[in-house]
Amino acid sequence: MKKLMLYYHFPFCLSKCAYCAFFSKAGIGDEVVEEYTRALIRQTESFPTDGFEVTSVYFGGGTPTVAGEKRLCAVLEAVKKRFSLSENAEITVESNPKTVSANGLRALREAGFNRLSIGAQSFNDGTLRLLERPHNAEDFVRCFKDAREAGFDNISADLIFALPGESTDMLMHSVRSLIELRPEHISVYGLSVEEGTPLWKKKESLSSPDEEEEERQYFLLCEELAKAGYSHYEISNFARPGHESRHNTGYWKRTPYFGFGAGAHSFYENRRFSSPCDIDAYIKESKSGCFAPTGFSSAAEISEAEAEEERIMLGLRLSEGVRIDGDIPPVLTENGLAALKDGRVCLTEKGFRVSNAIIALFI
Ligand code: SF4
Repeated sequence: MKKLMLYYHFPFCLSKCAYCAFFSKAGIGDEVVEEYTRALIRQTESFPTDGFEVTSVYFGGGTPTVAGEKRLCAVLEAVKKRFSLSENAEITVESNPKTVSANGLRALREAGFNRLSIGAQSFNDGTLRLLERPHNAEDFVRCFKDAREAGFDNISADLIFALPGESTDMLMHSVRSLIELRPEHISVYGLSVEEGTPLWKKKESLSSPDEEEEERQYFLLCEELAKAGYSHYEISNFARPGHESRHNTGYWKRTPYFGFGAGAHSFYENRRFSSPCDIDAYIKESKSGCFAPTGFSSAAEISEAEAEEERIMLGLRLSEGVRIDGDIPPVLTENGLAALKDGRVCLTEKGFRVSNAIIALFI
């Protein structure tokens, strides 16, 4: 059977974080969220499922838990009815500490979600306020412990480094506080202040770390996570042995996936396409009975040359690297940016920092 992964996009958030450039909306009325959930179920029910084995399901956003556990469980129920799921399918839901209760977490776990991703971002409350996150460090720890009690034995948490006003000591406080909780998986991103976000408007007054300090923070956190037993398996991701995200690894290894919902991306039938970032349009379109969003029919099939570029570009993100014909440019080995292991080019941690430039050398 052909392997397929499913992604469900929930473009709702409790409030907008100051740095957020993703497609998500705060303050959407309950009726719209209900209609949207029904639209997701309708699209799921109309999907042609023959010959597919679903290896992972990912509810992302936005903040899916803003929709409430009942709606998330209803969508998952529709997925289980419609698709043939692998016995050990990874079923992830993203959450924010302020949007899910201990009872809600129990309901999600009982319904079959077996992996929880929680946005921590920092353990410094002043930073969380600056980022306009709706939670504080204590909320995160409570949510994490509630999730463990609810039976989640696979938890991922996100952290951000290179944050304005955060010294390296403050960052390391966040890293160590998170390690103490022993999540199975940690994603770490450098803050990028995007144009159009509230943080962008304050850009000039922010005391952001310079490039040297940012690099120092990156290497220190990599070292701390390695000491704690986390392997740096992808540019931004660390995991305890056996807990690499199967869904995201599928993206990097070009496993086909279908995205349900407004703004969701797909790689399906050798085409890449997405649905418009428009909640009302998505609800309307789901009533047409067509499973594929606008964009599917007009998307061109990926050529062999493009597929090869994707394989290299995505494969170089992984520590296991990618098989490449020909020689590795000496500049990479001489500067400790990459190594050749069993015919595969693997970036080092130093190489991960400049991955875009390295990828450009190969494609
Ligand atoms: S929770 Fe995530 S998606 Fe929502 S506003 Fe914050 S950064 Fe954006």
